[in-house]
Amino acid sequence: RTVYLNGEYMPETEARVSVFDRGFLMADGVYEVTSVLGGRLIDFDGHTVRLQRSLDELEMRSPISREDLLEVHRELVRVNEIDEGMIYLQITRGAPGDRDFVFPDPETTAPTIVLFTQNKPGLADSPAAKKGIKVISIDDIRWGRRDIKTVQLLYPSMGKMMAKKAGADDAWMIEDGFVTEGTSNNAYIVKGNKIITRALSNDILHGITRAAVLRFAREAQMEVEERSFTLEEARTADEAFVTSASTFVMPVVQIDDAVLGDGTPGRVAPRLREIYLEESVRAAV
Ligand code: PMP
Repeated sequence: RTVYLNGEYMPETEARVSVFDRGFLMADGVYEVTSVLGGRLIDFDGHTVRLQRSLDELEMRSPISREDLLEVHRELVRVNEIDEGMIYLQITRGAPGDRDFVFPDPETTAPTIVLFTQNKPGLADSPAAKKGIKVISIDDIRWGRRDIKTVQLLYPSMGKMMAKKAGADDAWMIEDGFVTEGTSNNAYIVKGNKIITRALSNDILHGITRAAVLRFAREAQMEVEERSFTLEEARTADEAFVTSASTFVMPVVQIDDAVLGDGTPGRVAPRLREIYLEESVRAAV
């Protein structure tokens, strides 16, 4: 595989990052994941806008222009022959000569930028999407700036492991009785024809897929309510689903021991998945 590191394309085995990189030492970095369908980039604009916002919130400067970023994404798709898959992008505050809590001077310490691809044939035609997934509920003990897409992913990773050990696929995180989001996705319930999802705040990541799906839902005259919902409300909902750049719209058929509806994906989530795939592929770059 060819990867991109600090302005150069190279084989993955030759890419090297300093042991003093603040991404490695302090999780001082941000990332984006953009999916590729039919060799084209899904929701690319949204991801670059959010990347810039994450960088701004952490007072980091971007080492690359938007045009160059698009070019690097396209080049990696081309050389690695990605038809369906993902592009991972990470920017960290770079590697000052030593370990220090104080941010290094951006004039002397350049950010580190890495991009690599992941080949995922069958991403759109996912068997999991036809069956639906099971989630467990866990406490949300993450920090208070979940709107910044940092590489600080230890707790979400532990959450996935808790789900796996419990025989489930993922975990929904709960704070003060309310669902915040999934370990790597935004969470929704459906009651009647109404789609309910938590409103944007610092409590959750502002999903790029979320923004697109809510727009398409409203365009299709579906009712959308952006408000918090409790775990109890979710357990008795007609349907549930999650959204993310890597899973698009994924139906949820069980929350802890509560089976939703007849235990199959239902009507709304599969329809939204279909609309999202159609519209986002049409708009892909
Ligand atoms: N919430 C969290 C915590 C996530 O990690 C992700 C995916 N990275 C999302 C939501 C979904 O965001 P997006 O649709 O932009 O992939």
